[in-house]
Amino acid sequence: MNKAYNIIDHNYDVVVIGAGGSGLRSTLGLAESGLNVACISKVFPTRSHTVAAQGGIGAALGNMGEDNWKWHMFDTVKGSDWLGDQDAIEYLCSKAPEAIEDLEEYGMPFSRTEEGKIYQRPFGGHLTSNGEGPPAMRACAAADRTGHALLHTLYQQSLKNSVEFFIEYYVLDLLIDDDGTCKGVIAWCLEDGTLHRFLSHQTIIATGGYGRAYFSSTSAHICTGDGSAMALRQGLPLSDMEFIQFHPTGVYGAGVLITEGARGEGGYLTNSDGERFMERYAPNAKDLASRDVVSRAMTIEINENRGCGENSDHVLLHLEHINSNTIHKRLPGISETAKIFAGVDLTKDPIPVLPTVHYNMGGIPTNYRTEVLNPTTDNPDKICEGLMAVGEAACVSVHGANRLGTNSLIDLLVFGKASSITARKKTKPNSAKVNIHQRCTEEILNRFDLIRHNKGEIFSGEARNEMQKIMQKKCAVFRTEYLIKSGIKEFETVERKMENIQVKDQSLIFNTDLVETLELHNLMEQSKVTLYSALNRKESRGAHAREDYPERDDKNWLVHSLVWLDKKGNIKLDKKPVNLNTLTNHVQPIPPKRRVY
Ligand SMILES: Cc1cc2nc3c(=O)[nH]c(=O)nc-3n(C[C@H](O)[C@H](O)[C@H](O)COP(=O)(O)OP(=O)(O)OC[C@H]3O[C@@H](n4cnc5c(N)ncnc54)[C@H](O)[C@@H]3O)c2cc1C
Repeated sequence: MNKAYNIIDHNYDVVVIGAGGSGLRSTLGLAESGLNVACISKVFPTRSHTVAAQGGIGAALGNMGEDNWKWHMFDTVKGSDWLGDQDAIEYLCSKAPEAIEDLEEYGMPFSRTEEGKIYQRPFGGHLTSNGEGPPAMRACAAADRTGHALLHTLYQQSLKNSVEFFIEYYVLDLLIDDDGTCKGVIAWCLEDGTLHRFLSHQTIIATGGYGRAYFSSTSAHICTGDGSAMALRQGLPLSDMEFIQFHPTGVYGAGVLITEGARGEGGYLTNSDGERFMERYAPNAKDLASRDVVSRAMTIEINENRGCGENSDHVLLHLEHINSNTIHKRLPGISETAKIFAGVDLTKDPIPVLPTVHYNMGGIPTNYRTEVLNPTTDNPDKICEGLMAVGEAACVSVHGANRLGTNSLIDLLVFGKASSITARKKTKPNSAKVNIHQRCTEEILNRFDLIRHNKGEIFSGEARNEMQKIMQKKCAVFRTEYLIKSGIKEFETVERKMENIQVKDQSLIFNTDLVETLELHNLMEQSKVTLYSALNRKESRGAHAREDYPERDDKNWLVHSLVWLDKKGNIKLDKKPVNLNTLTNHVQPIPPKRRVY
């Protein structure tokens, strides 16, 4: 027994790790269904990255023009470059309007039309009439602070339902018993340094993405994908980790996001010749083509010396032609962002922008009921009992090889709710206490001790910086075998340095040095599986553009990739079929075809 720590035990029906949009929607549904739920978060709930979401939530309400959830489904399948599972996409798009109605009832302060309906704006890749018609008005927005409004609404409703929050508790690892069932987590209370064991019948991972594996990212510093790394450490695979979304309009230099809603409201991009170059790459959707397409076009413009500025290393986003009333009403947040981070008054001058890491399509594989998959050769749909995953941490997969803007927030709501429905089906309120082998707790504490007391000369910030630069250079918008292999080589040097990291602060109270070191370990594990997955996929699809394999290859690669990382750091790779069938016969499967905008 590890005598260094006194563990405080808790028993719940369900434990949710994470209080972002997905974690809170899940928690709220669980509380409403009478289950006894604990929601654990390393930051105050309304500081989760969801708070930063700007542009909108995708749902075919048809408030401002004709729309249909089947068109939303078509756009999502096409946007995913056919790598999304069509049963899950049908579930997402058909349930989206109901998810918005729920939110409206919860009191979400949406922007409104003259008649008082929820305001909806166009967004990249969302069109009408199965991609044949003009842009769809589909993104439900609260000005350009949609995530802020969403997160506060869900948090307030959770408080109303007397949810028990454990705030500023850092979850170290999952408790998985000898029979492979998940039975809860071990967490460290940052405020008083105590350690806690949460035992539960269902554990829901809602820990968000790992954008901070990259040097330039729109994500918050807390986006270190802790939950996905916990799954990897327990021998579970991650799926589609090669697909990293670059958002076309990060502010040059700072990486802070300018929402795609800016182009939805009429903004456009130009190169150094003043040319609206997107007309060449996507004659129909132009500046509202999907993100991978626009990011690649921008990178090509810059690589072919048509970039702007002294170093020809960015392009310009124009909003100065838009009526200043519209800007004030619909885009107040980015007006501030442009002023602070680019020194630009966007009603007068264009904003310098560059593709910046924004979203992880890959993550913990689940089915549409949000149960975590632990696929075997005989059974690709085998589940890990007691464990679910939602939000950016999960790979359901509705985003496939490329996520459309606004489809993450709707994913949080639809699958957050789905997880509460699944948990309620599997667990009765106030179920009996859960037992677990003591060994599971020991292993987690021993690893924690090892990292905490490691002796070395390097600080975590130094290794993190090196890792982020490797990922940014070697696993970016365009990739080749040579580039990724050289990235892996450099990565191995940083991996060796990890054995040499010292945590200077030895206390357990608000020890940010130790938190950052634990987060760095999580980022390193995910960066490694990302590099190997990117090397493995020999085709170009969605956000994964291989210059040495420029074509999509449906014969060999219309499959999800799976990756495992064992305790010695060895990688194992495999594939899993994409589900090209729909969930019901309300809609027909959408067969793969060439993806043009
Ligand atoms: C700047 C920006 C703008 C965006 N705009 C849009 C948009 O307009 N529309 C759209 O659809 N999408 C948008 N996205 C994407 C979308 O916001 C995110 O994908 C989504 O909010 C992720 O939500 P989540 O619930 O999965 O995780 P997050 O909101 O990231 O929350 C993660 C939670 O997990 C907790 N956590 C993590 N690790 C631990 C641990 N070890 N212990 C305890 N707790 C832990 C954190 O405390 C946090 O509460 C945007 C993203 C960014 C970065």
